[in-house]
Amino acid sequence: MNVDNWLIYKEFRFEAAHRLPNHDGKCRRLHGHSWVGRIYVQSDRLIQEGAKQGMVIDFGDIQKYLEPLLAKFLDHYYLNETTGLENPTSEAIAQWIFNKLEVAGLPGLQGVEIQETCTSGARYTKAT
Ligand SMILES: [Zn+2]
Repeated sequence: MNVDNWLIYKEFRFEAAHRLPNHDGKCRRLHGHSWVGRIYVQSDRLIQEGAKQGMVIDFGDIQKYLEPLLAKFLDHYYLNETTGLENPTSEAIAQWIFNKLEVAGLPGLQGVEIQETCTSGARYTKAT
């Protein structure tokens, strides 16, 4: 029985605006955050040979899946517009990024975490 399990993460940052149209407080107004995200990748084995020996996945390879999302939808954008989310909470954005990475085929994708302030964030994982 293989009892090994690794969960690695790649952190990324982007600046973007959003508004929560249903909110009863200041989040209803258009405002921006310096968002911090983490992509979690899980595996019960490590790559056995070659340049990536001993890794779950090369952190740089996770970055390759992320770059197009940052360039086309996330960094310096108005998230309500670019994600198509009517109410882009941290919860919703984490799920949106997860789904995009899943469609792109990131192997071992386990979860996506999105932090909108130093003290507040959300993590999305898909129940299997
Ligand atoms: Zn906000």
